[in-house]
Amino acid sequence: MINALYQKALELDKKDELARFKDAFVSEPDTIYLDGNSLGKLPKKTIEQTNNLIANQWGKGLIRSWNEHWIDLPQKTAAKIAQIVGAQPDEIFVGDSTSLNLYKLAFATLSLNQSKKKIISDNLNFPTDLYILQGLIEQQFKDHFLNIIESKDGITVDEKQFEEAIDNDTALIVLSHVVFKSAFMYNMVQINTLAHQKDALVIWDLSHSVGSVPINLNESRADMAVGCTYKYLNGGPGAPAFLYVRKDLQKKIQSPIWAWFSHQAPFDFSLDYQPMDTIQRFAVGTPSVLSLAAIESGLDITLEAGIDRLRAKSQQQTEFLIELIQQLLVPLGFSIASPLNVNQRGSHISISHPEGYRISQAMIKPNDESKVIIPDFRPPDNIRLGIAPLYNTFTELVDCVERIWKIVAEEQYKQYSNNRLSVT
Ligand SMILES: *Cc1c(COP(=O)(O)O)cnc(C)c1O
Repeated sequence: MINALYQKALELDKKDELARFKDAFVSEPDTIYLDGNSLGKLPKKTIEQTNNLIANQWGKGLIRSWNEHWIDLPQKTAAKIAQIVGAQPDEIFVGDSTSLNLYKLAFATLSLNQSKKKIISDNLNFPTDLYILQGLIEQQFKDHFLNIIESKDGITVDEKQFEEAIDNDTALIVLSHVVFKSAFMYNMVQINTLAHQKDALVIWDLSHSVGSVPINLNESRADMAVGCTYKYLNGGPGAPAFLYVRKDLQKKIQSPIWAWFSHQAPFDFSLDYQPMDTIQRFAVGTPSVLSLAAIESGLDITLEAGIDRLRAKSQQQTEFLIELIQQLLVPLGFSIASPLNVNQRGSHISISHPEGYRISQAMIKPNDESKVIIPDFRPPDNIRLGIAPLYNTFTELVDCVERIWKIVAEEQYKQYSNNRLSVT
């Protein structure tokens, strides 16, 4: 059975029109990386570009490099991200972290119409998003409350639940477009439409969808969004995040953090705050030049490959991976914790097994000659297999499933400890 599947994978790899992009990234021999949804790979060109920036622009140019190279970097990066998410360049701000950007937008939205008290999210959302909302309610918007929509199966959310939840008291809805554990993907247009019928605003968290699924914020009539660049966009650890605000909303909302980089004329050093009229009113302090520059190649590669081609390959790969899991791993006690409908999911597949943690450790640190396979683990029992269509092959998926099969069938995981590392 494995041989037949391997043959099929070889053929799919041969036909893959994105195959050449694999070589644009640094790879370790005998290592299969299936965690691009947590931290994307390093583009080779990024090494050259950041080395040059450090040695020449910083090393030699020093302060002069601000005017020569750096001051427009956030806008230049924003224009590229805008193309990837279907927005205008002047609707995207790049900087800070996803969490902080969500704080700024949620604060601004809740300040807009204080008579509406309900904030809606779901229990599949990324915890930081919920913490931000909890904090806002506790510290600032004390009469507001959070209505958490519960997923019935822990994998999907029935959008009908939103028809009931979104009412005239609803101020804000915050959702992950693709949810981090199961990869369930919301129908953005549907939720935006429901929200707008009740005069509510939506903030989408695109962290798990940007770079892996087509997003058109303008066509979907999205109000606001946030997202990170270090997952499918391959921007590097802790790379600056982005935020989007629909053009006509920009002047109506104001950042809770007044700082010099959102001032109309930061270098006039005036002692009175005057926010910019543009999306830059959400800027805070000095941009992180080194990490901003490191995002560029990843964005260029994504634009060159094209999001529609990336999505087509990702769908084919998640379908193939599910076929492999059903044939080889389900009989060993695994279950699939992602939607089976390809149109309802992003680019990773979660599988669960009671020994998930030890199995993932055996994949990462084999005791024999086996290839190293890097997935990630999400408690209590989820192994996430993230597929980055820019660099993952179909044969890697067969190798991965065969390896998991062996770890469980031969009980190799019993040689590993259940003590959790601090980053999983
Ligand atoms: C990865 C991720 C984040 C990360 O937030 P940071 O502030 O950049 O650490 C936030 N939300 C979602 C949905 C994510 O997947």
